[in-house]
Amino acid sequence: MTVPLRHGVRSMDVLITEAQIRARVDELATEIRGAFAGQPVTVVGVLTGSMIFLADLIRRLDLPLQIGLIAASSYRGTATSPGQLVIRDELLPDLRGRHILLLDDILDTGQTVSRIVEHLKTKGTASVRTCVLVRKVGRQVVPFEPDYCGFQIPDRFVIGYGLDFNDEYRHLPFIGVLPDSAAH
Ligand code: 5GP
Ligand code: MG
Repeated sequence: MTVPLRHGVRSMDVLITEAQIRARVDELATEIRGAFAGQPVTVVGVLTGSMIFLADLIRRLDLPLQIGLIAASSYRGTATSPGQLVIRDELLPDLRGRHILLLDDILDTGQTVSRIVEHLKTKGTASVRTCVLVRKVGRQVVPFEPDYCGFQIPDRFVIGYGLDFNDEYRHLPFIGVLPDSAAH
C-alpha cells in the first residue's frame, strides 16, 4: 500500500499498517499480561520512539502498573549511523525491587536495548524483561534476545508509530519506509 503524504513527501510505502499494529499490540498485551500474572510492573519506555507503542500497550495491560521513562540517543541530527550512546535516567521512578518491562521502538544493532538493560539492573530491580515493537533482521551486532517482539522487518530505514527521521514522522499511525526523496 502507498499513502499520500504532506510536507514535500509525495507518497510512502507502508510496511506495517495501522490495523496490523493494533492486532499485534493486542497479542503482545495478552502474552505479557499472562507472563506477569498479576505482578506489579514498571513499564520503562525509551524516549522518544517508544511513546506511542507504550501508550497503546499499557492500556491493554490489566496489571498493577507504574510508568518510567529513560532516554537514550545514539543518532544525531539527520545521520543514520550510530554514534556514542548517551543514557539519561533522571525521569525514572525508584526501581528497587520492581519487575521491569523495558519497551523500545526498534532493535537494530541491539546496542541501545542491551545497554539500557544493564543500566536498569544496577538500580536494584527484581527482574528486567524487554519488548521491542520492531526488530531488523540481519543487523544485530550485540547478542541479545528480547522477550517480546512485535514484528521482524528487513533492513530498511523505517518511520512512523514513534519512529522518526530527524525527529519528524513519529505521529504517522503506520510504519513506513522513508522515501529516498525525503532523506537528504
Ligand atoms: P540499536 O542500538 O539497536 O542499533 O538502535 C536502536 C535505535 O536506533 C532505535 O532506538 C532508533 O532510535 C534507531 N533506529 C535504528 N533503526 C532505525 C530505523 O529504521 N528507523 C528509525 N526511525 N530509527 C532507527
Ligand atoms: Mg530510539
